[in-house]
Amino acid sequence: MKPLSEIIEEVESRISAACAASGRTRGDVRIVAVTKTHGPETVAEAIEHGFTIIGENKVQEAEWKKPLCPSGAEWHLIGRLQRNKVRRALEIFTHFHAIDSIPVLEKIASVAEETGAAPSLMLEVNVSGERSKGGFAPQDVPAAVEKALSLRNITLEGFMTMAPFEPDPEKTRPVFAGLRELRDRMEAGFGARFPELSMGMTNDYAVAVQEGATLVRLGTVLFGERPKARVQRSVDAGDAGESGEGGGAYDRVLD
Ligand SMILES: *Cc1c(COP(=O)(O)O)cnc(C)c1O
Repeated sequence: MKPLSEIIEEVESRISAACAASGRTRGDVRIVAVTKTHGPETVAEAIEHGFTIIGENKVQEAEWKKPLCPSGAEWHLIGRLQRNKVRRALEIFTHFHAIDSIPVLEKIASVAEETGAAPSLMLEVNVSGERSKGGFAPQDVPAAVEKALSLRNITLEGFMTMAPFEPDPEKTRPVFAGLRELRDRMEAGFGARFPELSMGMTNDYAVAVQEGATLVRLGTVLFGERPKARVQRSVDAGDAGESGEGGGAYDRVLD
């Protein structure tokens, strides 16, 4: 593995090139450093190298990890959130990328009202229509936006999607363009601003940036391959149903 500083230089130059190619500026795009399955030392290294947004996909894992990490970063939940974990999640995270149901929206707003939290939310949209992907179907997004706008104590900041893995990342372009167009329709229809588009991962972030991503979620390119689960994944009720990928070394610790 190359030193992180060198990797960052390469990522930075690809993001800058993608911005230049699409008439955007580097400042329009922020990187979410996705540290799932990695330990607190990786989070510390990321923060030392200037990352200010840490992305985790599981409440339980972040709950354990965050107290062992330096402060000074925003923690974003990039995986799906279940209703029964909203209270715990609001103690850890300020930003939620993958809101995928109206009951979860309502629960977040009601807990936020109680606790004084002011979370920023993005709705996950299943633009590709792949059955394995989470998120609202595009036709269900207007109702979700309407609901989000009616709730107090939360801010709907934008939308998130995951493209199917494509060996040729160019093929993901319609998915990212689709999310941007959906966002534009929601802004026009509701007369509101939804500035954030969370899209692009290791394989496809350059394309996502060209199509308007404001948050790219990068794990593997920064920190290497994630450890594969060596033991049966934890199947306790608390863990079931969360974003499937990314189990690994820490399952053992959490069991
Ligand atoms: C793991 C994960 C990422 C990062 O994926 P890489 O391909 O390792 O960059 C991004 N988004 C979500 C929702 C994830 O779960």
